[in-house]
Amino acid sequence: MPAPKKNFVQHIALERMYRLLELAQEAHSKHPERSKRYIQLLERISTRYRMRMPLDIKTAYCKHCKTPWKEGFNIVKRVKGSMLNATCKECKTTKRYRLGTPPGKRF
Ligand SMILES: [Zn+2]
Repeated sequence: MPAPKKNFVQHIALERMYRLLELAQEAHSKHPERSKRYIQLLERISTRYRMRMPLDIKTAYCKHCKTPWKEGFNIVKRVKGSMLNATCKECKTTKRYRLGTPPGKRF
C-alpha cells in the first residue's frame, strides 16, 4: 500500500531540511551570508509544509542571526543547574535548554 500523499510530501520536506542544514554548515566558513540564506530556506520549508522541526535541526543553528552553530567556534555552552545555556558568539544571544529532556519533546 502506498504511503499517504501528505506523509510522502513531508518526507521529502524533511530530507530537504537536512540537506539545507548540511549545506549551511559547509558554506559557513567561506560564505557566511549564503549559509544564513540556507537556514532561512530551511525555516521556510518547515512553515510551508506545517511540520515541526526535528530537535537536532532546531538546536543546530542560532534562531536570532541564522548562523549554523559549530561546537568550539561560534557557540559557548555552559551548564547552570538543570539548564544548558548556549550563547551564540556572533550575536551574543543566549538560548536556554532544559537538560534531560527526552528527544522529540518541546523545550
Ligand atoms: Zn546568533
